Amino acid sequence: MNHVVTPPGLPSVAVLGRTERFPVHRIYCVGRNYAEHQIEMGGSGREAPFFFLKPADAVVAVEGGATGTMPYPTLTKNLHHEIELVVAIGQGGQHIPAARALEHVWGYAVGLDMTRRDLQNDMKKAGRPWSIGKGFDHSAPIGPITPAAAVPGVHTAPLVLDVNGAARQSSHIGKMIWSVAEIIEHLSAAWVLAPGDLIYTGTPEGVNAVVAGDLLEARIEGLETLRLRITG
Ligand code: MN
Repeated sequence: MNHVVTPPGLPSVAVLGRTERFPVHRIYCVGRNYAEHQIEMGGSGREAPFFFLKPADAVVAVEGGATGTMPYPTLTKNLHHEIELVVAIGQGGQHIPAARALEHVWGYAVGLDMTRRDLQNDMKKAGRPWSIGKGFDHSAPIGPITPAAAVPGVHTAPLVLDVNGAARQSSHIGKMIWSVAEIIEHLSAAWVLAPGDLIYTGTPEGVNAVVAGDLLEARIEGLETLRLRITG
């Protein structure tokens, strides 16, 4: 097929132990999925799941053992880190019941939902879309994907984010308000899921600012560690 402009490249993510890569179709994100984070963001601690999206080419795919880089974004003075478990969808579908949902998961990775918090807060106050605060370039760093069968314990794994060697966020996947299976049930009622979709499943408490030069190390037990340097 011929195109009137050069087609953009397909964003993709590394896969543990494989040369083949995971192609990215869409990036869905879950808001406020840990009670303590809901409270720090001004919520009551109990709320139905809600979703927002990032563009597929917002991924910063970091290879195993490597340290990725993310340029400090424009327009913000308050860039926040949010460590999250990322679900990689291998089999699409609509109205997927929670009881069958994990059959649709190809694997899991550690991700960072990077956020221009000042811009997100401005948009919230104005009742406007969050895109400028959440869906900007390089806003979705992610480590290599591990096949689901290799990490059966991921649903109860600890997750920790260090900045320059000091702990900033420390929690447990088991504390998610909505489990991976329940997220897939809710999400697939609103959109048709497809192979290549990524789901960032929400962050625990402790979100805070980073600046140029900071080194982030995001770890979830059983998955490849994600290391990321913020550059000026
Ligand atoms: Mn988030």
